[in-house]
Amino acid sequence: MDFGISGKKALVCASSKGLGRGCAEALAGEGVNLVLNARTEGPLQTTAEEIRARYGVEVTAVAADITSEEGRAKVLAAAGDVDILVTNAGGPPPGMWSDWDREDFIKALDANMLTPIALMKALLPQMMEKGWGRVVNITSSSVKAPIPVLGLSNSARAGLTGYVAGTARQVAGAGVTINNLLPGIHATDRAVSLDAAVVEQDGITMEEAIARRSATIPAGRYGTAAEFGAMCAFLCSQHAGFIVGQNVLLDGGAVNATL
Ligand code: NAP
Repeated sequence: MDFGISGKKALVCASSKGLGRGCAEALAGEGVNLVLNARTEGPLQTTAEEIRARYGVEVTAVAADITSEEGRAKVLAAAGDVDILVTNAGGPPPGMWSDWDREDFIKALDANMLTPIALMKALLPQMMEKGWGRVVNITSSSVKAPIPVLGLSNSARAGLTGYVAGTARQVAGAGVTINNLLPGIHATDRAVSLDAAVVEQDGITMEEAIARRSATIPAGRYGTAAEFGAMCAFLCSQHAGFIVGQNVLLDGGAVNATL
C-alpha cells in the first residue's frame, strides 16, 4: 500500500532510540523527510546518519530537551514548516502514591502533557493553513488501564488524552488529524529500566522479570519498535484522514477489555 506521504516533513520528538526511532524509521520508509530530536548528541547523530543511509531521506537532528521551553524553541526553529508531528518524551519514574509531591507532578505534567500540548499549539496553525496535517502522540496503555507504580504517568497522560479528545475535533475540519498511540510493553530501554526496578524490588533475575511480564501478555512477548512505528506511519498516511481523536492500543492484548 502506498501511504501517499512521500516528500512530506515530520518532526519526531525523542527519537534517537526506542518507540520514537521506530516511528521515525517507518516514516522514512515512506519517503518522509525527518527532523529528529533527543537530548544526547552522539546517539542522535548516529541514528540520523543510519536513517539517511538506509532510506535516502533528508534528516535534521536537533539535540535538545523537548520538555524545556528553550529546547522546544530550538527544535521548532530548526523544524520550520512540518506536515507531521509525533510527540514523545521520556516517561516519569515508577514509585508509590505516597512518594510524590507537587514538584514531581509538575515535572510529569510538563514532560508528558504540557510539552505535547505546546508542540501542537505551535504547529497546528501551519497544518490547518495548508489543509493537511497529522499529529500522533505517544502516550501509554496506562491511559486505558492504570499501571499502579506509574501514577505520575497515569495522571499526566490522562490529562493529555482529555485535551486531544476535544482538540482533535476542533481541527479535523481543516484536514488535520490528531490521534494517540498507546504502547503496552515494548522491548526498548524504557522496558529495561522498568524490568530492572522489578529485579531490584523482587530479587529475581532480568530473564525472570521478562518472563513474568511476558506471561501477562496474551501475545506472550514484548512489542517491537518497528511494529509500533508501522502503526504510527499508517496514522500519518493519506488513508487515515477519517481517524480522528482515537486512542490506539498496541499491547499484545494485555489490557483485558472488550472496547
Ligand atoms: P526509550 O527507549 O528510553 O527512548 C527514549 C528516547 O527519548 C531516547 O531517544 C531519548 O534520548 C529520548 N528522550 C528522552 N527524554 C527526552 C527529552 N526530555 N527530550 C528529548 N528527547 C528525550 O523509551 P521508549 O520505550 O521509546 O518510550 C517512549 C515513551 O513511551 C516514554 O514516554 C515511555 O514512558 C512510553 N512508554 C513506553 C513503553 C515501553 O514499553 N517501551 C510502554 C508504555 C509507554 P535522550 O535520552 O538522549 O534524550
